[in-house]
Amino acid sequence: MENCIFCKIAAGEIPSQKVYEDENMIAFKDINPQAKVHVLVVPKSHFATLADMNADQAELVKQCFVNIPHIAESLGLTNGYRLIVNQGQDAGQTVHHLHIHILGGQPMGEKML
Ligand code: AMP
Repeated sequence: MENCIFCKIAAGEIPSQKVYEDENMIAFKDINPQAKVHVLVVPKSHFATLADMNADQAELVKQCFVNIPHIAESLGLTNGYRLIVNQGQDAGQTVHHLHIHILGGQPMGEKML
């Protein structure tokens, strides 16, 4: 999609610190990390939120979750990690292309907020 920063990263038009890529998804380091390890997992197909997802895109999201433990292991996250998927305004979603945050490399605490 035009003017979507994550579509441009997925297409290789904008540089990223890639940690994983296959034909359907890409994972790269967040430009403004909120934890020692902060990686974004992004299906290459453009849709903003789970509410906008079609059946094919749901399959890609499933593949993202199947791959996340392998990506986490490759990042050295052997002691756990947190996943966040911001959905819309109240969640503070700033990039309107669905993505899963992987946060870890440190104790995250028991509180989510
Ligand atoms: P969200 O608030 O869930 O929409 O998260 C968007 C995330 O994308 C934020 O954590 C940003 O720091 C991150 N971000 C924005 N632009 C880039 C970029 N060019 N490369 C890597 N991460 C980015």
